[in-house]
Amino acid sequence: MSVRTRNESAWLLPNDGTRTNHRLRRDMRRYADEDEVDIVVVGCGAGGGVVAQRLARAGWSVVALDAGPFWDPDADWVSDEAGSHHLYWTEPRVIDGDDPVPLGSNNSGRGVGGSMVHFAGYAPRLHPSDFSTSTVDGVGADWPIAYEDLKPYYEQLEAELPVAGQDWPWGDPHRYPQSAHPIGGNGEVFVRGAHRLGIEVKVGPVAISNGRFGNRPHCIYRGFCLQGCKVNAKASPLITHVPDALAHGAEVRADSMVSAVAVDERSGLATGVRYFRGGVERFQRARVVAVAGYSIETPRLLLNSASRRFPQGLANDFDQVGRYLMVQGAPQTAGRYAEEVRAYKAPPPEVSTEQFYETDPTKPYRRGFAIQCVSPLPITFAEHVAAQGYWGEPLREYMRDYVHWANLGALCEFLPRADNRVTLDEDTDRHGLPIAHFSYSQGDNDRALVQAARGTMEDIHRAAGAEEVITIDRYAHLVGGCRMAADERSGVVDADQRTFAVPNLYVTDGSVLPTQGGANPALTIMALAARVADRLSAGRRCGVRS
Ligand SMILES: Cc1cc2nc3c(=O)[nH]c(=O)nc-3n(C[C@H](O)[C@H](O)[C@H](O)COP(=O)(O)OP(=O)(O)OC[C@H]3O[C@@H](n4cnc5c(N)ncnc54)[C@H](O)[C@@H]3O)c2cc1C
Ligand code: SF4
Repeated sequence: MSVRTRNESAWLLPNDGTRTNHRLRRDMRRYADEDEVDIVVVGCGAGGGVVAQRLARAGWSVVALDAGPFWDPDADWVSDEAGSHHLYWTEPRVIDGDDPVPLGSNNSGRGVGGSMVHFAGYAPRLHPSDFSTSTVDGVGADWPIAYEDLKPYYEQLEAELPVAGQDWPWGDPHRYPQSAHPIGGNGEVFVRGAHRLGIEVKVGPVAISNGRFGNRPHCIYRGFCLQGCKVNAKASPLITHVPDALAHGAEVRADSMVSAVAVDERSGLATGVRYFRGGVERFQRARVVAVAGYSIETPRLLLNSASRRFPQGLANDFDQVGRYLMVQGAPQTAGRYAEEVRAYKAPPPEVSTEQFYETDPTKPYRRGFAIQCVSPLPITFAEHVAAQGYWGEPLREYMRDYVHWANLGALCEFLPRADNRVTLDEDTDRHGLPIAHFSYSQGDNDRALVQAARGTMEDIHRAAGAEEVITIDRYAHLVGGCRMAADERSGVVDADQRTFAVPNLYVTDGSVLPTQGGANPALTIMALAARVADRLSAGRRCGVRS
C-alpha cells in the first residue's frame, strides 16, 4: 500500500509557502461532550497522534484532547533557542532518588504533536534482542511481543515520516525510504574519528525529509530542529498524522487538560474523561479511552483517577502503575578542534553508530549504548561548559570559541527497576491535581555503561584530532511507567496495550515500553500505536475483552 493511501497528511498541508492548513482546522468536525464517541485519546503526541489518525481513517469517531495548544509553526515557533521554551512541559513535578532526573526542557513537550515537535529527529528501530533481554542477557525484561510483531509497523512509519538514512547494518538490517542527508562539520568529525578507530558509523536514520514529500519541503539545514522545525521538513504528528486525522473526521481539542479517567463502578468499564478547558471542568463520553500523555503524565493521570473500585489508582490493583520508569544515560562529549566545525549548520541528528548496542561478553556490563551526533545551540552548549564549573570570564572564553566545538552524545540502555517510579506528590498544580513525584536511582550496570560510553566518545574525539575534550553526564528519553507485560502482577497493559484491569482502557504512548535499548524511542512508540489501532479497528471496537 502506498504511503498516501494510508496517510495523506503530507499532501493535506499547504503548498503556498505557509505551514498550516487552516481550512482543515476551521472545518474540523466537533463533538459535544455528551456525544459518546468511539474513542477519546488523551494526549496528541507520538502515540496519541498515530492512534487518532489510524482510527479516524478506520471510521471511528475520535476526539483527541491535548493539554497544550494546537501549534501553528508560522505563528508560534521561532528559530531561536531562548524563544522556544514554551514548547516544553514545564508544569511542576517533584524529583528525587539517588540520581534525580531533571525534568522540563530536555524531556517532554506539550501541545498537539507532543514531544516530537521539539525532538531531535533520530528515528532508529529497536533491535530484536531488545524484546527479550531477560532471556538473552539475564537483565531487564521480556516483552509480551516480539520484534517481528512490530516490524511491519516500523516499515509503515518509516515511510510516513519519512526516514532518511544509509542502509542499516545493525539489529535487523534494513533500508530506509529516503537516502541519507549530506552531513555538516559535526558529522564529518564523528566519521573521521570513528574511521580511524575502526568503528562503523552510518548517516541517519533521521525523520527529516531529504527531498520534497507531499507538500512538505526538504530540510534546509538551519539546525533548529529542537526548537520546532518551522520548515515542516522534520516529522512530528502535528504534520505527519494530525492533518489526515482531521480529514477523516477526528476532532483535536487543544488546551484541554484531562484530570481523570472515569469508570462505571458497576460494569468496571471506562466511560470517558474529565478535563479542564477554559477554566471549566467538563466530561467527554467515550466507548474506549486511550491514554497517551507521556511517561510521567500517563501514570500520574491513572493514579489521579482513583475511585472506590480502584482506591490505589486506576488499573493499579497490583501496584504496577508508575513503576519501571526508565531514562537513558545520555552523556555528551564535546571536542575542541583547531578548524571551525560550525556544528549548528546542520540538523543536530546526523551520524550514528550501534556497534556497541548489544551485550559484549568480554565486558563487565550487560547491554550497551549507541553514539550519535548532537549539536547543541549556544545556550545548551553554555550549560554544558558551565557544568564543568566554568563561569564568568572562562565561560565567556569558551563561548567565543563555540564554532570550534563538535559534540557527540551516547544513549546508554539503563535497566528497568521497580523503584524507579512516579507517585503522586502532596503538592498540586493550578487545577488542584496532585503533581507527579519521580524517584530515580541508577544501578551498577547503568553506571558502568556510562563510563564505557564516555570513554568511547572521548577516544573518537581524540582520534579525530580534538585538542580538548569535556564530558557531561545527562539523561534523555523517559519511557515506561505503565509497562506491557504477560500478566497483571508484572505490568499494567497486555500485549495489545489494553489495561489488565479495565477492558476498554488502553495506554498508547511510551509508558508501555518494558525496555528501551540504546535507541531513541519515538519511532517505536508510533509503531506500537499503529499496531494497537490496527487491532482495535480489526474488531475490538467496544473494548469488550475477547
Ligand atoms: C529535546 C528532546 C529531544 C528528543 N529527541 C528525540 C529523538 O531524536 N528521537 C526520538 O525518537 N525521540 C526523541 N525525543 C523523545 C520523543 O520525542 C518522545 O519519546 C516521544 O515523543 C514520546 O511520545 P509519547 O506519545 O509518549 O508522548 P508525547 O509525544 O510527549 O505526547 C504526550 C502529549 O500528551 C499531552 N498531555 C500530557 N498530559 C495530558 C493530560 N493530562 N491531558 C491532556 N493532554 C496531556 C502533552 O501535552 C503531549 O502533547 C526527544 C525528546 C526531547 C524532549
Ligand atoms: S535543520 Fe532541517 S529539519 Fe532541522 S529545523 Fe532546519 S529545516 Fe527543519
